[in-house]
Amino acid sequence: MKLIRSLAARTFVSKIFEAIGSLPEEAGIIADHLVESNLVGHESHGLIRVKKYVDWCRNGDVHPNRHAEIASDHGMAFLIDGQFGYGQVIGLEAMDLLRSRVREKGFAAVLIRNSAHLGRIGAWPEYLAKSGLVSVHFVNTSGYGILVAPHGGSDRRLSANPIAAGAPNESGAPLVLDIATAAIAEGKIQVMRNRGERLPSDTVVDGKGRPTTDPEAFYSDPPGAIFPFGGHKGSGLSFFCELMAGSLSGGYASNPGSPTASHLVNNMTSIAFDPAAFGGVDFFRQDVAAFVAWIKGSPPLNEGGEVLLPGEIEARRRSERLRNGLPIDTATYTQLAAAAHSVGVEVGDYIEELQ
Ligand code: NAD
Repeated sequence: MKLIRSLAARTFVSKIFEAIGSLPEEAGIIADHLVESNLVGHESHGLIRVKKYVDWCRNGDVHPNRHAEIASDHGMAFLIDGQFGYGQVIGLEAMDLLRSRVREKGFAAVLIRNSAHLGRIGAWPEYLAKSGLVSVHFVNTSGYGILVAPHGGSDRRLSANPIAAGAPNESGAPLVLDIATAAIAEGKIQVMRNRGERLPSDTVVDGKGRPTTDPEAFYSDPPGAIFPFGGHKGSGLSFFCELMAGSLSGGYASNPGSPTASHLVNNMTSIAFDPAAFGGVDFFRQDVAAFVAWIKGSPPLNEGGEVLLPGEIEARRRSERLRNGLPIDTATYTQLAAAAHSVGVEVGDYIEELQ
């Protein structure tokens, strides 16, 4: 395990994306998002993705410097076509548009289709919560990201389909729920494979439908599949992510026969509310503060334990890692250095290992 400074990682990653065609602003937006994922502890959606994004750019699966294009507009609800641009840029532009509609109308919805990977989905409700907005987001990955078996099934039919929600919180970091509907995010399987770790039981079946804890079995031929979390409940939520994000936007539900099946495409439906338009900002603040105190006050189940709020663990990791540096496993570091080298950027010019 190595330890690096987040600021240096950000400059380094930004240089990689500039080297493969992104304008400096776009490269910085992608780098910020990826480094932030490592900072908050979602390594699966951070630096480990750089190699894939570079490969996708080379293959023409993602196109630098494309922007969120309004494909249809109904005022309080509108559709963005991401034109297979970087999800970090498409997502940010869509959230900015959504925020201005919500300010005007009290609530609004944006549907995004044909975006490349939207990364850590919690980034989007967090961004809106920092502007005082409450939001919920449903995501699917049409085609390329089919990884999850439906409840009762044993092969890949659904995507990992995250759901995220966020709200401002007077007394601390924004409240952010950010969960894949898969029992384990595929990126975490990659991280555990890189670290040589076993998977938690009851998360994955191998290509013959047999439960396994071996990350390699998931990537073998035939490939394994991930279970949905919570049995039929997670499976049902995942099912509706496909409809809400994929079918509704025109971006397709998971289907290997869809026209976008060979790309990693994320679709997302985001609905946001301004508390000012409903119960009022002061009421919302006070009620959330009282509710948070009530929830935190539950006696710990285990000695020394505590109740954590949605987003609390990420906020704690972030401040610790900003102080002490980002831990990065050796395999990921080596992959990252190789991806950088392949585009003429050298890790040693930017990153000094802290240990
Ligand atoms: P996870 O299982 O780590 O759950 C994270 C959520 O649970 C957070 O809201 C966190 O605050 C909360 N949490 C964690 N521990 C807690 C505790 N002890 N008490 C209370 N709350 C707690 O996340 P995941 O399902 O593995 O997802 C990982 C990441 O993968 C997410 O950022 C997700 O958006 C991302 N993802 C993206 C895609 C995509 O297509 N772009 C697909 C799947 C997953």
